[in-house]
Amino acid sequence: MICFNVPPCTGNEMKYIAEAVASHKICGDGAFTKKCSAWMEERFHAHKVLLTTSGTTALDMASLLCDLRPGDEVILPSYTFSSTANAFVNYGARLVFVDVRPDTMNIDETKIEAAVTDRTKVIVVMHYAGVACEMDAIMAIARRHHLLVVEDAAQAVMSSYHGKPLGTIGDFGCFSFHETKNYSMGEGGAILVNDPACVERAEILREKGTNRARFFRGQVDKYTWVDIGDSFLPSELNAAYLWAQLEMADEINADRLKSWQAYRGAFADLEKRGFVQLPVIPEGCVHNAHMFYLKCRDLEERTALIQFLRDRDILAVFHYVPLHTAPAGLRFGRFAGEDVYTTRESERLVRLPLYYKLTAEDQAKVIRAVRDFYKV
Ligand SMILES: *Cc1c(COP(=O)(O)O)cnc(C)c1O
Repeated sequence: MICFNVPPCTGNEMKYIAEAVASHKICGDGAFTKKCSAWMEERFHAHKVLLTTSGTTALDMASLLCDLRPGDEVILPSYTFSSTANAFVNYGARLVFVDVRPDTMNIDETKIEAAVTDRTKVIVVMHYAGVACEMDAIMAIARRHHLLVVEDAAQAVMSSYHGKPLGTIGDFGCFSFHETKNYSMGEGGAILVNDPACVERAEILREKGTNRARFFRGQVDKYTWVDIGDSFLPSELNAAYLWAQLEMADEINADRLKSWQAYRGAFADLEKRGFVQLPVIPEGCVHNAHMFYLKCRDLEERTALIQFLRDRDILAVFHYVPLHTAPAGLRFGRFAGEDVYTTRESERLVRLPLYYKLTAEDQAKVIRAVRDFYKV
């Protein structure tokens, strides 16, 4: 069986977890949490990085920091994960879905401005497959209309846009370290707080509404309840696992990119002959090989391909059902403009096995099977 995903493991995880246990510090914000956030701050030139319990709760924190009022509108793509939407619905926002571009499956920056109303507060972008949205255009729209920008960069750790690491361009960036992502801690995530004025509130929200972070820095002499909040910090055991990944981040990235390139090369002729479409990486975007997908000609062909691969013990999977067609999407949002590509393109897309340490032999089997399906 060739799995769709195998959670990344570099070999040092147990050693670091044992260190955390031996240090008798297994709650949040210990040595491993500090190492991980310092590494990300340095690597991504991020102003402040705070580890969270998931990508979902990083988005929840970003939403809280946007300070939404009931009736505020949030613009986002419909082609995304439920967490992108829930984070804002949880705090009272109405969702306004915008179509995606067929080449990257990212929100179509040319259709955003038409969706802005006087209730719009936030634009949420999601960098699909770790490939950047057109952030220059999007940040310009946000500036023109005084909107906040949240980057759902759950899939985009180590990707960049014109030299800027994804997650550091908007007001807030959100990473996921779920086991399905490039770097993992089982369940976990991080919020990048790019506006220095928001850091203190972010620390308070994350620590049950207390000013504990200031207390530990000696800035106040006792800590107390100062605001709303929740518990968004992960255990040191999870942070220790993540540290074993981050210290090998370049190796993991290179390994994934090698597999991605091998798929791309192997299917180039299928694309030329019109059987499939391959992912597009726009100029200025450096991606992290989070995902390799093909687009079949239609839904029926995709269903047949997935079954064909399954019969050969290869797990390939489709992806998001557009949120605006889901029961909660209908309840909490509306689609602005026309759904030209979101539904049509999502029905054609299939993701192939891609993970750290995918062997060349296994990948060759996947490639052979796809080519057999198209009889080439
Ligand atoms: C994985 C993912 C999330 C959620 O992250 P979790 O860590 O699983 O909570 C949110 N948005 C996108 C686009 C994702 O791919």
